[in-house]
Amino acid sequence: MELFSISEKESKYFNDKEGFIEIESCPVGGMICTEQLAFINKKMRISRSHWLNKNFVLAIDELKIAYNKTAEINEPACTQCAALFRTTITKSMEAIHEDLRDMTTGFFRAKRFQSSYELATITLKEFKDGI
Ligand SMILES: [Zn+2]
Repeated sequence: MELFSISEKESKYFNDKEGFIEIESCPVGGMICTEQLAFINKKMRISRSHWLNKNFVLAIDELKIAYNKTAEINEPACTQCAALFRTTITKSMEAIHEDLRDMTTGFFRAKRFQSSYELATITLKEFKDGI
């Protein structure tokens, strides 16, 4: 659906669409969950740019806001949508977590990311418990 495709500028910036949610799987065509989806996609884009800049705490905060937004989708028709949104957000959180794990372990580990890694671990667990 055109309305939810990311703009050309963003597409060039990110080079792909990975991580963004499409509305196609919604049984009522996004009638109920459109607003939340737009909000969540926006937050995920912000999170991703923080991530690219290695602002991990900010990136995690944006994902938390996105995740909490899914709780507003409580219409039975969109139960699956809310679940899909949570799964997608959790995947992004997993990617951040992995990135931090790689940077905080091994010979070239960066101590300054240790607290971010711990935050990522806690947040990822919270997300997984909520799915
Ligand atoms: Zn929906």
